[in-house]
Amino acid sequence: MFAMLLGAFGLVAAGTALVVIPNVWAVAAMLLFCVFIVIIGVALWVDAGEKETGTVALLKAGASHTLPVLSAEKIHDEELKLQLWVRLPNDEVAPHRCGDAACRKAARAAPNSELPAIADPAGRAWAVVHGPVDC
Ligand SMILES: [Zn+2]
Repeated sequence: MFAMLLGAFGLVAAGTALVVIPNVWAVAAMLLFCVFIVIIGVALWVDAGEKETGTVALLKAGASHTLPVLSAEKIHDEELKLQLWVRLPNDEVAPHRCGDAACRKAARAAPNSELPAIADPAGRAWAVVHGPVDC
């Protein structure tokens, strides 16, 4: 949303600059940059909506579980995070990348720790619960 507001502000500023500044190519470059920022904002907005839909569906179809943490390691993915390997209810092992305080604590205690989670009966979708669940 912030990126869209920034882009819209940039479009207004570019329109004003087009009237005031005679260098058309500089204004055109600024307009292209603003359009790029708006596209990024729309993409982030659509992606957040899709993730929210998936989370709501998982909350309706899923059941609460505790996932044993098998191991953990530090990773550098834009920021320092942990990758915890957890055993899912269907016995598959899956990674959970996170920097949450509860997950850091579980990583330090691995393999003698568990994480609260919600998983659908088929085991195709799951999520670690980091806070209160609002259904
Ligand atoms: Zn986590």
